[in-house]
This record gives sequence, C-alpha cells and structure tokens, in this order.
Amino acid sequence: NTQVHSAKTTLAPVKNIKNIVAVASGKGGVGKSTTAVNLAYALMQEGAKVGILDADIYGPSVPMMLGNPEARPQSQDEKHMEPPQAWGLVANSIGYLVPAEDAAVWRGPMASRALKQILDETLWPVLDYLIVDMPPGTGDIQLTMAQQVPVTGAVIVTTPQDMALADAQKGITMFNKVEVPVLGLIENMSYYQCTQCGHIDPIFAEHGGESLAEKYQLPLLGQLPLNTRLREHSDAGTPLVVTEPDDAMTQTYREIARAL
Ligand code: ADP
Repeated sequence: NTQVHSAKTTLAPVKNIKNIVAVASGKGGVGKSTTAVNLAYALMQEGAKVGILDADIYGPSVPMMLGNPEARPQSQDEKHMEPPQAWGLVANSIGYLVPAEDAAVWRGPMASRALKQILDETLWPVLDYLIVDMPPGTGDIQLTMAQQVPVTGAVIVTTPQDMALADAQKGITMFNKVEVPVLGLIENMSYYQCTQCGHIDPIFAEHGGESLAEKYQLPLLGQLPLNTRLREHSDAGTPLVVTEPDDAMTQTYREIARAL
C-alpha cells in the first residue's frame, strides 16, 4: 500500500513532549541541521524546555554540531536510554548509537525502524519542544516521521536559489498531504556581507524565500546570511546561539523561536 495518508488523529502523543517540530528541507546542504540546532537553543533562551532528535539516519550531524560526538546514551534497560545533553539541550541521534558507516548503508525500512526506536526508547524529560532535524528530501524516513509521529508542525529551510526552492515545494506538498501544518519558511544563506568592505552579495539570488512564502501563503520566519562564524561554530561544536548570545544572527534565531 503506497497510499500516503495521515494517521495523525489516531497517534498517541509521545510521553512528556508537548510539541514536535520538524525542521525539514527539500534539498541537502541548505543549512537545515545548522538551523535546527541554533533554533533549539534559541527556544531555550526564550524559556522553553527543549530537546533535539536527529532524524537524519544516513547523515547525522547533530552530535558534531553539539560538540559531543563521543557521548553515548546511558541505557537504563533494553528498551530505555537516557539521552546525552549539550549546554542543557537534550539530544539523541543515530550518530551516538552506531558507527556512521554502518547506518549509511541501511535500507529504507531499517532506517525508518531505527528512527522510530530512537524516538520511543529515549527517556525524554518533560519538553515544550522536541526539534526534529529531518533528513533532506521526501522519502521513507520523512513519511515515517510524518505519519507515525504526532508532529505538531514543520518548518522548511531553503536557500533563495531556484533549485532549492523547487525542492522546498516538494517538502511543503508532502507535509500538506500528511496533514502536518507547515509553520513557516526560513531562508538561509540569503546573502553574504563582506567583512572587509561591507558589500552585500546575494550569492544564491534574491527574493526566493519571499516569493515561495507568498505562493503558499506561509510566513517567512527569518532570513540568515551566509556567515563564516556560523559555519565555524557549527564545525567546532560550539553553536553560535549558545556561545554568541549578543550576535545579530542569534537575535534572528530568537525572533524565529518567538514566532513558532
Ligand atoms: P543540511 O542539514 O541542509 O545538509 P547543514 O546545516 O549541514 O545543511 O549545512 C551545510 C554546510 O553549510 C555546513 O558546513 C554548515 O556549517 C554550513 N552552513 C549552513 N548554514 C550556513 C550559513 N548561514 N552560513 C555559513 N555556513 C553555513
């Protein structure tokens, strides 16, 4: 049965979790994980209790971005694990559980099962938000998430580039089909401002996020520039929102958090 339908009305809520927010993108490499991680911390700074689930089974990047790739969930018994934390953010990821090269070659059903298992067996504390860093695209895992998990809403990350926008539309269509509300769009890599001369260069074109938001009548929640420090903080495992609370980009993430 390949028919896509919504099972939302029959889904039991996940224990302790008020809202599950999927951060998704049609295309890889647009900054979905970077956005998910920084948005999670921004929500914390706004006073919420937050966790993050890395649903990118084939390419988990949350452990590196949180700076704790060596962390391991503590197993309580065969079916329950205590998730790692980084700067107060509770997190779980396939990256903490199996070597990357193993998970990378799993078939779809196995990856979907693994994801469901991580979600169900993690002893999440009481959370206002569980942010889910979705894998890119609209395949098996995305449908598992959307149909088997009571997702409150989805946020779509895109760059202003035509190709990314086309794929973002596929993501919007998928969430519409499974009746998960799309809460809004985040445009990432909107422009680059030269640190030497201040010149602004819209590397991936302009107005893409705005026109997509208009087309689907969705809020454009925020626009983030291409920025070396944001990338460096991600690579170093010291998320910008945590380590540079006064930065303009941190303020943008917090505005997005308040709009959710
Ligand atoms: P995705 O989850 O969509 O695959 P990532 O969040 O992993 O994308 O980002 C891809 C790469 O781009 C990473 O190296 C990340 O650090 C970098 N990156 C993401 N957003 C920005 C940005 N606004 N400025 C600079 N680098 C960014």
